[in-house]
Amino acid sequence: MRIGVIGGGQLGRMLAEAGAGFDARFTFLDPSESACAAVHGRHIQADWNDTAALEQLLAASDAITFEFENVSSDVVAMLAEQRPAYPPARALATARDRWSEKSLFRSLDIPLPPVAKIDSQADLDAAVADIGLPAVLKTRTLGYDGKGQKVLRQADDVTDAFAELGNVPLVLEGFIDFDHEVSVVAVRGRDGETRVWPLVRNEHRQGMLHCSVPQIDHPLQAQAEDYANRVLAELDYVGVMAFEFFVQGDTLLANEIAPRVHNSGHWTIEGAETSQFENHLRAVCGLPLGSTTRLAPCAMLNVIGALPERDAVLAVPGTRWHDYGKAPRPGRKIGHITVLAASDAQLQERLNAVQRLLTNDLG
Ligand code: AMP
Repeated sequence: MRIGVIGGGQLGRMLAEAGAGFDARFTFLDPSESACAAVHGRHIQADWNDTAALEQLLAASDAITFEFENVSSDVVAMLAEQRPAYPPARALATARDRWSEKSLFRSLDIPLPPVAKIDSQADLDAAVADIGLPAVLKTRTLGYDGKGQKVLRQADDVTDAFAELGNVPLVLEGFIDFDHEVSVVAVRGRDGETRVWPLVRNEHRQGMLHCSVPQIDHPLQAQAEDYANRVLAELDYVGVMAFEFFVQGDTLLANEIAPRVHNSGHWTIEGAETSQFENHLRAVCGLPLGSTTRLAPCAMLNVIGALPERDAVLAVPGTRWHDYGKAPRPGRKIGHITVLAASDAQLQERLNAVQRLLTNDLG
């Protein structure tokens, strides 16, 4: 099978690695000359909206997907007229805009933080009066890894905040004093079959994912699956989708969705019976989905900004090394490390050992 991927970053690279067993051939559309997925396929170096490049991608592909949310949903809708193209354009359009995303949660009775739509400083002043401080101001589109956001703690922070974020459409959210953050990664096939991996507990640093640990028998698993299934069914979704939640007591509050394979699902490569990447390909190509069972206690640590000493990491038993082949730059995700163990206690020991070796530079 020939797969066209919009985006050629590490997610595309790992999709291609998962496709090897299917003898899948990949073509990546990415404007960067150093797209790190290109080692595993053909690289069309062009902008996402470049008509001639999209024609080339169509000609080279039996099915199309994307690994990146900055492509316009109109492009995906156009491609879907000519080839199976998943996830569906509507899911992308919803996830690209925080207000649409939150409106979807609301319409499906999924709890979420207090939120208001902000199109002016006057809207912001009114929303702060209503929601209170602290609160988090976020751009509606193009935000990721905590970028395009500002925490408003006191009245002073509010005064020029609309202009400080660039006079663009925003949302204001109540600041949630959460116990911890979790995500759930789910996949839905073309026939509507759905599978969900175990809930993952996530630790962020400076808004970026630092560590993900899949949880067995988490008390909120069923709740998270129920919310995920509502969204997947509503969007008539095909492919992998990630859902991020804040946990407060026994309540899940929806933060955001990602209509693609997700950083908090990287542990599935070695830690689950079927990885998120393989199941995404299976879904997009209309193949039966694989089991999402966790195989062993495991965790994933992101490598950001600088690679730690590889051989020292590999000397810790149970580690798996993923270097994406990207030039190191502060704040840039350039790899991850999966740690596997026979017990939770052993996992913690190994995680501590690897954490001591990390030289992450968050910028
Ligand atoms: P986001 O890009 O919305 O996922 O935000 C990045 C990170 O910022 C989240 O994973 C949280 O750690 C933090 N964050 C975002 N929104 C809120 C909120 N409303 N309350 C508290 N922390 C937040």
